[in-house]
Amino acid sequence: MATPIAAVSSYEEFNINVPENEFPRHGIAARAAEALVLSQEWTDTNPMLNMSSFVTTFAEPEAVEIAKRNMFKNYIDHDMYPQLFAMETRMVKWLHQLWNGPEGVEPYGAATVGSSEACMLAGLAHKWNWRQKRERDGKDATRPNMVTGGNVQIVWKKFLRYFDVEPRIVPLKTGNYRLTADELEKYVDENTIAVVAIAGQTFTGEDDDIEGIHDWLDAYEARTGISIPMHIDGASGGFVNPFLYPDYRWDFRLPRVQSINASGHKYGLTPPGLGWVIFRERSVFNEDLVFYVNYLGGEMPTATLNFSRNAFQIAVQYYQFLRLGFDGYQRIMRQTLDNAIALRQTLVDSGYFTIMNEQQRIPVVAVTLDKGVTKFNEFDVSNKVREKGWVLSAYSMPANAEEVKSLRVVVRPHINHNVAQMLARDIVNACKYLETHGGSATAPKLHQHPPENRSPAKC
Ligand SMILES: *Cc1c(COP(=O)(O)O)cnc(C)c1O
Repeated sequence: MATPIAAVSSYEEFNINVPENEFPRHGIAARAAEALVLSQEWTDTNPMLNMSSFVTTFAEPEAVEIAKRNMFKNYIDHDMYPQLFAMETRMVKWLHQLWNGPEGVEPYGAATVGSSEACMLAGLAHKWNWRQKRERDGKDATRPNMVTGGNVQIVWKKFLRYFDVEPRIVPLKTGNYRLTADELEKYVDENTIAVVAIAGQTFTGEDDDIEGIHDWLDAYEARTGISIPMHIDGASGGFVNPFLYPDYRWDFRLPRVQSINASGHKYGLTPPGLGWVIFRERSVFNEDLVFYVNYLGGEMPTATLNFSRNAFQIAVQYYQFLRLGFDGYQRIMRQTLDNAIALRQTLVDSGYFTIMNEQQRIPVVAVTLDKGVTKFNEFDVSNKVREKGWVLSAYSMPANAEEVKSLRVVVRPHINHNVAQMLARDIVNACKYLETHGGSATAPKLHQHPPENRSPAKC
């Protein structure tokens, strides 16, 4: 949304010094405070032009109205706001069905602050389940590990560190940026709480080889007796795959898939602050993780990491599901993907770029500069198009593909075909300019954090 400069109403209001280090002593008029706050964020990126983010930046006025009306409700207070809780419960059932959960079971899941909280909850459930089974079998339960690809989003590294689970991260290779079954033998064992596979990864947009991994784990169980569950990180893919690829088996149709997360605030089309975790059935979410809280009268279960949180995202998600329905999401995702493919084609046709992803399921364009381009790099292109206002991610890929640099555009529904083509032309023109004038030809130096704390992906 454009910055509303109309809020500036008098010159005096600008002439107030904001203290740097001390708490403001005296208050000021509401209008003056508004002018100060808005003027301070003028130079921030316009979210509409932020093509490095997956997060929703558009809502219909009706959705904005719903957000306003619900912004003072604390979601955790189910006793006060039972109808919001009923919306969440209904949406959990809808998502369980959308992701082909088995019939005749009790669906279970939760609205969370984002996929991060959802991933943490799923990871904890798998850790608890694994430990209980180990203890039941009289085996050592002190050294849990989790297997993921090197393409995982930072949240999994946080989960592993914060909750003391040994990371077993299968490194990427130049030219293959997905987790496949190829090397799993070296990584899984009886202490593996789960294998995480991604539907719509942040680096290239691709899906891991979900079915291949699933079948490999079946064969592994047949051979060793060790049964390892899968979690699907569908932060982006969870709201694209069901609509565009109904026959593609990435979800609960695969029996080993015990839990799935998705970001309501990505292709779920809700403003920032909403994620989902859905379990195959109630029993997968370990009962030991559920607390029962006594409110005015009722006993309510709570099993999220956050206690208080805003409720408006839940109401807006409900609006979106009702407003768009399956066919609405399908139409929007189709359009968005078509725009992404057209944008990518213009970039490839320019002769500067090569496609990074083999199979593009979500509307993400990930390209790398052709080997013949020596005068500038992906960071230069990103910096140059920034002059037009666009924000694109440029980054080096994770281990062991660090020498590959990528330029990524996350196409979202508010970008129509013409605007996508405008962006494509701006990128190609940036390349032409850099070809003539040269770029830095070196990536900006990464700051000196330990390598395992660096994450190239923004979100
Ligand atoms: C965005 C993302 C996350 C983190 O989700 P948030 O909703 O930002 O908390 C995790 N995994 C993947 C694959 C993502 O794209």
